[in-house]
Amino acid sequence: MSVSVCCVCQRPLEEGARSIGRRLYCDEHHAKVTRERDHLWQSGWVLVAALVGKACVAGSVKNNSIEFTGDETHDILTRAL
Ligand SMILES: [Zn+2]
Repeated sequence: MSVSVCCVCQRPLEEGARSIGRRLYCDEHHAKVTRERDHLWQSGWVLVAALVGKACVAGSVKNNSIEFTGDETHDILTRAL
């Protein structure tokens, strides 16, 4: 019979130890890992909010974009060269 150990500190675990996927954790490290996941979700929500904000700004810029006629585009290109 093999003894289950915490995948972080290698301490032997009792029956019914906490696990995430196939990894077993002692109470201390399970709490630490799940706490770090909470931070991951919080930063994920900030990222999603930032992307939504950027999409809204990009949409408003697209709606207010200036359309150039062919002559204006030609003038801009000739000045640039
Ligand atoms: Zn541990």
